[in-house]
Amino acid sequence: MHEVSIINNLIQRLREEIADRDDVQQVEVIFLKIGEMSCAAPSALESAFDVVRRGTEFESTELNIEPVPLKVRCQACEVEKVIEPGPLNCPDCGSRKTKIVSGDSLYLDSIQYR
Ligand SMILES: [Zn+2]
Repeated sequence: MHEVSIINNLIQRLREEIADRDDVQQVEVIFLKIGEMSCAAPSALESAFDVVRRGTEFESTELNIEPVPLKVRCQACEVEKVIEPGPLNCPDCGSRKTKIVSGDSLYLDSIQYR
């Protein structure tokens, strides 16, 4: 399952992140940002996290998921707007020459330690 491998990667990164630090006793919260176009569903990630963390040092770690709206920039009229996931046409002039500014990726935003 797609979400499980995302969570496994995340846990791998967390371990690397805290490996060199002696001041970390526990990871309290993981803040993830998920773009609306990143094709990972927050609810599926939450349940994947729930399964994967069992029996690990992250058993009591919380997962905080913040959705990032899809935003495009139009190269024809230069407007930058948040749009619904779907066709990436410019909401103002209808041009297809748009570029995604944000909302197409999933990343680890920050980690709260104790
Ligand atoms: Zn436009």
